[in-house]
Amino acid sequence: MNDTILVRGATLADGTGADILVSGGVVTEIGAGLSSAGASVIDAAGLIALPGLVDLHTHLREPGFEQSETVLTGSRAAAIGGFTAVHAMANTSPVADTAGVVEQVMTLGNTAGYVTVRPIGAVTAGLEGQRLAEIGAMATSRARVRVFSDDGKCVSDALLMRRALEYVTTFDGVVAQHAQEPRLTEGAQMNEGTLSGELGLAGWPAVAEESIIARDVLLAEHVGARLHICHLSTAGSVDVLRWAKARGIQVTAEVTPHHLLLTEQLAAGYDARYKVNPPLRRAEDVEALRSGVADGTIDIVATDHAPHPVEAKDCEWGAAAFGMVGLESALSVVQSALVDTGMIGWSDVARILSRVPAEIGRLSGYADGIAVGAAANFTLYDSGVTRTFATSDLRGKGINSPYLGDSLPGRVMATIHAGYPTVLDGELVDAETVAAAAVVAAAGREAKRG
Ligand SMILES: [Zn+2]
Repeated sequence: MNDTILVRGATLADGTGADILVSGGVVTEIGAGLSSAGASVIDAAGLIALPGLVDLHTHLREPGFEQSETVLTGSRAAAIGGFTAVHAMANTSPVADTAGVVEQVMTLGNTAGYVTVRPIGAVTAGLEGQRLAEIGAMATSRARVRVFSDDGKCVSDALLMRRALEYVTTFDGVVAQHAQEPRLTEGAQMNEGTLSGELGLAGWPAVAEESIIARDVLLAEHVGARLHICHLSTAGSVDVLRWAKARGIQVTAEVTPHHLLLTEQLAAGYDARYKVNPPLRRAEDVEALRSGVADGTIDIVATDHAPHPVEAKDCEWGAAAFGMVGLESALSVVQSALVDTGMIGWSDVARILSRVPAEIGRLSGYADGIAVGAAANFTLYDSGVTRTFATSDLRGKGINSPYLGDSLPGRVMATIHAGYPTVLDGELVDAETVAAAAVVAAAGREAKRG
C-alpha cells in the first residue's frame, strides 16, 4: 500500500500557501511545487490546513451507554469535525475508574482508527465523591492516563479535591473539574435570572460555578498542582481565572463552542435541545467568554460532545437530559463566534483547538503543528462556504445538536490522522479502510521504535 499523500495548494494557519507531503505517518516536506511519484493527491486550493484538532472533553458513552454513542461512532463524529484526537470522559458504565476500563476504551479507539482516543480517568471511585479512584493504576496503565475528571459531577468535597490534586502531581497529571456547587444547584434547569423566573424553571446560579473555581484555584496553589476547569460559562468565572493566572497559579480552562454562541434566551421556547449543563447564560457572559479566549485567559475550546438518544431530548424540558452533540459543528461555531467576528485568527484557532489542548492532556505529537518531521495529523477546512446545518451533517449517534436549521460557516473537507485519511472530499472514509490503515500505521510506529 502506498502511504504517500501530497496535499496541493493549501493555505497554512499563518496565511502562507504550501504543498504538504506525507509519508510513513509523518510530514516529510512542506513547500511550493512539491511532487512525488505515485502519491495520492489532495487538491487543497482554497482550503486552510489546520493541525489536527484535539478535544479535551468528549463523551463517547462506551462502555455502557452504546445506545447513545460508541467509541467508533463518536470517533467518526470527531473525524468529520476535523479532530484527530479526543479525550473520552469517564462517566461510562462501568465508570472509567480502573486500569481495566481505561485500557478497554483506548483499545476500542485504536481499533476504530478514526482518531486517537485518550481515556480520562475518574477522580473518585464510581464518580461517587466518597474516595479516590485508582488514579495511580490508571496513570501507569497502557492508557497512560494524565487527565482525571468526575465530569458530569463536581468533586465538591474539598479534602478529596486536595488529595486528588496532590496525587496527580506525582506523574504530571491534571484534575479537570466540573465546577458546580451541588447544594446551590439542586433541581436546576437553566441559568438563574429574570428569565428563569418568568419561565418557572429552577435556576442554576453563576455563583455555583464561580465559588468552586475560586476554591479550587486556591487549593491548586496550596499544593502546587495543575488544575483544569471544564466548560467555563460565566463572566465571573473569567474574572476569577484571570486573577488566578495573574497570581501564577497553574490553572487552565476550556469553554465550549455553544457557550460562545448561544444564550439563555433559547430556553424561552422550552425546546430541550438547548438544555445543557452548565446552562446557556446571558449575552454578557457570551461576550466575556469570547474576550477571555481572545486575550488568552481561557486556554482552549472543548466540545463537551454529549450525545443522547432521541427520547431523552424529545420530551418536556424538566424531564429531558442535559447535553448537546458538538464534535461535528465545533470548528464552524468557533469560526462564527471568534474568527468571523475578528476576535482571533486561524493561528489562534490552531492554538486553542490543537496545540494547547494536547499540551494540557500531555498528548505528544502536537507541539509543532504542521511541521516537517511531525506526525501527520491535520485537517483541510473550507472557511468560505455557508451551510444550513442539518442532521445529515452529523456522524455520531446523537442528533441533539442545537444548530439544526441554523446557518453555519465552513466545512471540513479532509482529515489526515497518523498519516492516513479519515475524511476525503467532505465525507468519511469507510470504517474498514480506516481500521486497516490504523493497523499499518501502528506497525510502522512500532518498527521505528525498534
Ligand atoms: Zn461537565
